[in-house]
Amino acid sequence: MSPIADNLQGVLKTCNAIGRRGQLAGINPPVVVAVSKTKPAADVRSAFLAGQRHFGENYVQEAVAKIAQLHDLRAKGLQWHLIGPLQSNKARLVATHFDWVQTVDRAKIADALSRVRTELGLAPLNILIQVNVSNEVSKSGVSPTQVGSLVSHCRALHGVRVRGLMAIIENSPNDEVLRRQFRAMRNQFDEIVGAGSASNEMDTLSMGMSGDFQLAIEEGSTMVRIGSRIFGAREPSVVNLAHS
Ligand SMILES: *Cc1c(COP(=O)(O)O)cnc(C)c1O
Repeated sequence: MSPIADNLQGVLKTCNAIGRRGQLAGINPPVVVAVSKTKPAADVRSAFLAGQRHFGENYVQEAVAKIAQLHDLRAKGLQWHLIGPLQSNKARLVATHFDWVQTVDRAKIADALSRVRTELGLAPLNILIQVNVSNEVSKSGVSPTQVGSLVSHCRALHGVRVRGLMAIIENSPNDEVLRRQFRAMRNQFDEIVGAGSASNEMDTLSMGMSGDFQLAIEEGSTMVRIGSRIFGAREPSVVNLAHS
């Protein structure tokens, strides 16, 4: 077995093993998004051959090149998620090439994505509203008090489908600090789902990465984003910056 297939199997086994506290029907275990930023297309192909279907990328230019190289896998079920920050001037490119955008944090960007999807006659784009749960000024994401109104705004758009919420939590060596943020997200998610209409498409709460996905699942995550645990450590961030 390739190291990537091996890692993937380990992650899936762990995900399956953790009992979920959440109550959303039919979504157990959580969806794994394999985060392939800075990694070559060949690594994505290996993971796909091992059964992985959802892939996450942070940098639009890098992703678009990889998406082109792997276009044959699209028809076989590969789905691309944008998990990095999104600038308005990239909205067209993103709406054209991705299946999910997890980092929607303002109405203007949702409007632009929706407009392009409609224009191109593509199916609605799956979006998640990114929440700045720790309320750090340095982090992107809408503040927890404004999630409800942004969700309502986006639900009225025809070119996007609001699937739920996403968070990048504040890093901490203290499990209790991490759990508190995951729990706050889960509560917010439950509130929003509860407030939705009967035909609720809000089935996704994206939180948890390589270092904390077990905790995230225990606290009710339905989608984890895992990079280094699957593909190995990335080059230092100075290299990553070149892609942004
Ligand atoms: C890079 C990244 C991940 C994956 O990080 P790992 O620690 O390698 O699992 C998950 N989510 C976001 C938003 C990221 O930028």
